[in-house]
Amino acid sequence: MRIIIDMDEVMADAYWGLVEKYENQFNTTIDQEQVWEKKLRDLIPEEHYKIGIGYLYEPGFFRNLRVIKGAQEVIKALWDKHEVFICSAAMQFPQSLQEKSDWLDEHFPFIDWKYRILCGHKYMIDADVMLDDHAYNLEVFTGPQKLLFTSPHNIAEERFTRVDNWEAAAKLLL
Ligand SMILES: [Mg+2]
Repeated sequence: MRIIIDMDEVMADAYWGLVEKYENQFNTTIDQEQVWEKKLRDLIPEEHYKIGIGYLYEPGFFRNLRVIKGAQEVIKALWDKHEVFICSAAMQFPQSLQEKSDWLDEHFPFIDWKYRILCGHKYMIDADVMLDDHAYNLEVFTGPQKLLFTSPHNIAEERFTRVDNWEAAAKLLL
């Protein structure tokens, strides 16, 4: 099988990376329980939302994200069994391209550069499985298996097979 794996919110903890930066800047704490029930933008003042988006353009943001639990072990096992490509819309935040490549070198050194697709659109990707946290990527994926990796922002989405964590991904794909 050819498997396409997204980075942010699947391998790299971008959502909680944003929350952590916000908490540090405004010396506040965001209730994690509430984040799962409401949208983050409903929990913070309107004028702060744009500041939060700005974090995505700050040097170092993508380079320093934590690895999502279980991703390293399971992706290594998938790598040994299937054809795995990492596919991330890095061009949305151009400075992230080098940072994502460096991040993969550090945390996923077994993933050869030829299997890293740092791109814009993903709709032209041809594969058997796409694992992504964004419904808009799965909507246009033409392969048979569309897997939605759970993230606070997609909790209400019901159109795709949901994968809550890497343990669940392993059960499905290994
Ligand atoms: Mg993502």
